[in-house]
Amino acid sequence: MELIVLSGPGGVGKSTVSEFIRQNSDEIWVSVSATTRPPRPGEVDGVDYFFHSEESFKRMIADQEFLEWAHFAGNYYGTPKEPVFAKIAEGRSVLLEIEISGARQIRENQSNGARAYLVFLAPPTISELERRLVGRGTDSPERAAQRLELAHEEMAASHWFDEVLVNTSVEEVAARLITLASTGR
Ligand code: 5GP
Repeated sequence: MELIVLSGPGGVGKSTVSEFIRQNSDEIWVSVSATTRPPRPGEVDGVDYFFHSEESFKRMIADQEFLEWAHFAGNYYGTPKEPVFAKIAEGRSVLLEIEISGARQIRENQSNGARAYLVFLAPPTISELERRLVGRGTDSPERAAQRLELAHEEMAASHWFDEVLVNTSVEEVAARLITLASTGR
């Protein structure tokens, strides 16, 4: 499979899976997104994200540099098109770890040249997701409530994905994605 999209509700553990793949799989190249969100402690420009000003991000939108992009939780996020196509041309599998509206853009623009397979990462239970969202502990109660509501909406998107994977273990989810990348099914 050329292009695998990993999406799912906030708090489900998408970034833990993509980080695991980045560290442990030669099969799959993990795309580095651009964002206007400021770096968190320890995040490195060009490794975790390409950090941009809003002005430069908007210029990239205008120049059609993104395969998809979204405004999410107050910041812009987007997948630079060029490196994805370059890796696919080299015969590598590519993983995008993105939120739901970006996944929908990929679904709707299959004509982009790459064959995409969309994987929805679901929590073992809704209460587990709530526990993880609240457990981040950095949010105000209002912000936590907003994130919960958004997560419930995001859960409703699972039906238009090619596959739903329950995040019971990072290793198992990663193993499934690697199989998908190497065998196409
Ligand atoms: P965070 O700010 O926590 O790193 O990411 C917030 C959300 O943005 C996560 O759900 C993450 O999957 C999503 N995200 C990261 N990069 C991209 C991207 O390039 N496009 C889209 N649509 N979402 C992204």
